[in-house]
Amino acid sequence: MKRNIGIMLALLCAASCYSMEEVYQPLLNNESPEQLRKLSKTWSSLLDNYEEIDEDLHMVYNPGCNVSFFGLEKKHPFDSTKYEKIYTFLKKNYPELKFHKPVRPVTNGALSTVHTADYIHSLCLSGFDKFRKAKIQRSRKLIIDISEMEDLGSMKTTIGLCLLYAKLLKPMKLAAQGTLDATILALKNGWSINLAGGFHHAKAEMGSGYCFYADVPIAIQLLHLINPEFKVLIVDLDVHHGDGNEAICGENDKVFILDMFNKNIFADNKPDDEKKVDYMAAIEPGILDAEWLSAQQGKKIDGIEDDEYLEKLEELYTQALDECKPDFIFYNAGTDVYQEDPLGRMNITKDGIKQRD
Ligand SMILES: [Zn+2]
Repeated sequence: MKRNIGIMLALLCAASCYSMEEVYQPLLNNESPEQLRKLSKTWSSLLDNYEEIDEDLHMVYNPGCNVSFFGLEKKHPFDSTKYEKIYTFLKKNYPELKFHKPVRPVTNGALSTVHTADYIHSLCLSGFDKFRKAKIQRSRKLIIDISEMEDLGSMKTTIGLCLLYAKLLKPMKLAAQGTLDATILALKNGWSINLAGGFHHAKAEMGSGYCFYADVPIAIQLLHLINPEFKVLIVDLDVHHGDGNEAICGENDKVFILDMFNKNIFADNKPDDEKKVDYMAAIEPGILDAEWLSAQQGKKIDGIEDDEYLEKLEELYTQALDECKPDFIFYNAGTDVYQEDPLGRMNITKDGIKQRD
């Protein structure tokens, strides 16, 4: 008897994490480009919500964007609940900061301005799918591959997939909506920071490297709904190459990309056509072995150091501003260039990151 109650409670807990409406989102397969355009226009109504916006409002955060998966997330190479830690730090040290909370996950209409219907569809679960079982397996594999959390492999059922949605995809969607909201806030108030987001590996037809939704390219679509002439500069200083942003925006003549990254780590497909990234520094860091690096804690290590890194950045950034004269800048402030980051394998100090930012 006791056991039954336990199971029921667990199911109730699971059920309360997500709404079925969110899981069974409208399918997009049959929508024409015209219908998708109409869908995308509806989110210019976002602007209406911000008419009376408080001019001191710059920060964007929704606690729902932290990813926790019954402890399994701790095996992931990076801290998926870091946003809450940053938020707590900021509230404590800068109590005057006011935060905007995105009210909903990014919609399929917004996603469809950048992502293919097939890709969006493959992350949704259709209640009427004839090939439901196969679809569940495919979606599960896709989600696990993108999230790089192999330990989620046991999520083999509908409930499992719904949990993946509630605990993983929904946080990603909230984070992506945060980037859209921050874009509007920055237009209104000059600047804005979304504590989450920056999913620069997501491409139109596929996610990868923990990036499901291409939040910055979608936000650029939003900007271009407001003013198609806006010139946009993406400054991507995450240690990884932003291959998703490059694939989506590389050919767009209103979008310029400045990307400084470690050329020896993920993403594998470095730009062979350098024209797609307008200002690029593919850095040869000199550190190739993460295990070796972690054993060096506290010791001086080889690799690009603060002065050289900052000098290169200043040179590229000045050139980019002079040439592009952007109306709007997106800055992806990845801190995985830090010298103790196990994935980044660079040699930049905390002070160097502060100066950079
Ligand atoms: Zn990174």
